[in-house]
Amino acid sequence: GSVLSVDDLVFRYRKNGDELFDGLSHDFSPGRMTALTGPSGRGKSTLLYILGLMLTPLSGAVTVGGKVVSTLPDRRRSRFRAEHMGFVFQDAALDPRRQVIDSVIEPALYAGWDRNSAVLRAMELMDMMGVSIRADHRPGEISGGQAQRVAVCRALMNNPKVILADEPTGNLDHENAEIVLSALATIAEDEERTVIIATHDSFVIESSHEVLEL
Ligand code: ADP
Ligand code: ADP
Repeated sequence: GSVLSVDDLVFRYRKNGDELFDGLSHDFSPGRMTALTGPSGRGKSTLLYILGLMLTPLSGAVTVGGKVVSTLPDRRRSRFRAEHMGFVFQDAALDPRRQVIDSVIEPALYAGWDRNSAVLRAMELMDMMGVSIRADHRPGEISGGQAQRVAVCRALMNNPKVILADEPTGNLDHENAEIVLSALATIAEDEERTVIIATHDSFVIESSHEVLEL
């Protein structure tokens, strides 16, 4: 697998706004789960968005296998993200109108899978996360913790090389946090994936292979 790196990174949300990251350089290697930590406001979520190619650095670059990806044109960047990256948003971000199974399979349909194969894979993932019995519910009918586990399934759907998760255990009790983290750590190790988790949770930090403090 290829190493995902940030190189001499600086970002700001608006002109004359505060600069974040102060020229941060870091390599995220396949096979490892990294916890991004640091005080609130330091830029953990922002760094995930930059790594996920949803925000563009002011200077510096995001590279994959040594190739700069942060300056790809929009369409290629979107395609790169859809093919190689899975993102777990802090608030789960599931479509409130649809059964959660439909949110989980969406990335696969987008990638051209047929519905039946997508549903089979989704149900396997949802089984692993303990939420398959909620497959035909809508987000409003399940708990926050269940929604978060569903969001993890969605992010894993296309077997992405890079998994980016923003506080994925924020809504979970310890038992469910353990289920989610051991699944992510196993995916990192056994499938040589790069897993990066923005978190305050000391349990996530202990479970990770590496900690990057901002
Ligand atoms: P963390 O995840 O470590 O709490 P964030 O990445 O959320 O940090 O935020 C980093 C800084 O950028 C904070 O000062 C925050 O207020 C600011 N910020 C975050 N999102 C925006 C935005 N959309 N527009 C302007 N400033 C933002
Ligand atoms: P663009 O028009 O810039 O190519 P799109 O509007 O197609 O981008 O998509 C915007 C983002 O949403 C992209 O990151 C894409 O991967 C993602 N996306 C769009 N449709 C889907 C979908 N059905 N499932 C998962 N991700 C999607």
